[in-house]
Amino acid sequence: MARHPKGLYLLFTTEMAERFSYYGMRALFTLYMINALCLSVEEAAGIYGTYTALVYVTPLIGGYIADRYWGTRRSILCGGLIMALGHFLLFLSASMLSDLDMAKTLMFCGLAALIIGNGAFKPNISTMVGSLYPPEDSRKDAAFTIFYMGVNVGATLAPLLCGWLGNVDYRWGYLCACLAMLGGTAIMRLLQHRLLVTPEGKQIGLSPSASVSSVSSVSPVSHKLTAADRRHILVILLIAFFVIFFWAAYEQAGVSLMVLAERNTDRNLFGWIMPAEWTQSLPAIFVVVLAPVFAALWETLAAHRIEPAAPVKQAIGLLFLALGYYVISLGVDGVTGEEKVSILWLVVLYFLHVCGELCLAPIGLSLVNRLSPAHLASLMMGVWYMSTAASNALAGVLSSFYPHDGEVKHFLGYQIATLSDFFMLFVFMSGAAGILMLLACPKLIKMMK
Ligand code: GLN
Repeated sequence: MARHPKGLYLLFTTEMAERFSYYGMRALFTLYMINALCLSVEEAAGIYGTYTALVYVTPLIGGYIADRYWGTRRSILCGGLIMALGHFLLFLSASMLSDLDMAKTLMFCGLAALIIGNGAFKPNISTMVGSLYPPEDSRKDAAFTIFYMGVNVGATLAPLLCGWLGNVDYRWGYLCACLAMLGGTAIMRLLQHRLLVTPEGKQIGLSPSASVSSVSSVSPVSHKLTAADRRHILVILLIAFFVIFFWAAYEQAGVSLMVLAERNTDRNLFGWIMPAEWTQSLPAIFVVVLAPVFAALWETLAAHRIEPAAPVKQAIGLLFLALGYYVISLGVDGVTGEEKVSILWLVVLYFLHVCGELCLAPIGLSLVNRLSPAHLASLMMGVWYMSTAASNALAGVLSSFYPHDGEVKHFLGYQIATLSDFFMLFVFMSGAAGILMLLACPKLIKMMK
């Protein structure tokens, strides 16, 4: 594999710690609200859905502040500290369960801090990955794929470690998330000066005023958008729109696919019943295993000059997702009540979903980075994450069509009576989005020039 700058591995580690804290908290949170704070399942689901959507709205603001005032470094450090504070407030909440009102107030303050902190952290660390390379460097897709592996090493370990500590006492799970975030922020603070530099040795991620004054040869940047800039921004918006349908279907992992794992999947492994929650580690594990394969694949295809353009890869990603749902709809065909199917159906589904994810998610980060006008790089990353906010909201709406008790539901005229009908809905949704995107590719590629 091609060599990558050392800074990539610093960003990998920092993002791994941050995602560990994010997914660790998420793994505990629903059961904490229900079992410790005595909220109803509906209340807990409402808070969870609002939180996971808002967490992806604030990157728009965090991206704007970084581009305009702070630069990415300062934003990441502040965001990391605010997120650590959020986890700490949840730790305090879980330490005060004798006063439930106080515990709930602390929980909401903690969530607010996490939402603000993530806004400052998430878009900016992604932008920084791209800044380590010259604008047209062909290693960028591979670099973002390696970075995305860091995301998923964190996401794999978090439910295991925080979930285990949370089973002892919720507060230790939250404290563990807090310490991970503090650790990631400290490593970044210590090593950024040495490692976050361009190939020419110029510091990256400084505030816009500091970057301009530190490079005497660069004249103050005129921030007018050219026609090409406008075209590129339009491409990002169009692709972000298609991507909404990817995450809305993919994120069923935490909702309807979880119910399927719990009720209709045979989790008996040699006499031991595997916890349904563990099936959620499957996609993250597949990302860690498959990310190097995809990174190498892109590099090899690029070396032979047959690498598909980014939107083509992403459209293929949507089709992989549709294929995964098609497989599960075959698996659950005719299944009713508590009847169980083999866990292999879920394994194959997640394998296909992760192949799709690796064609779409890191490639999207790389594409946004390449197409954004430099002075709007983080803001555009925020726009990209906004599509995840819309997806998480849509995922919740769609999961409410999950069939139970023989009840027949309708979604836009489509009848959902069986599990198969329900999963076919995602085949149609992601399949149609993938085909439309594939058809739009020639136009999108032209607009990217
Ligand atoms: N798994 C990714 C992450 O946590 C998902 C991001 C997204 O855009 N939905 O970074």
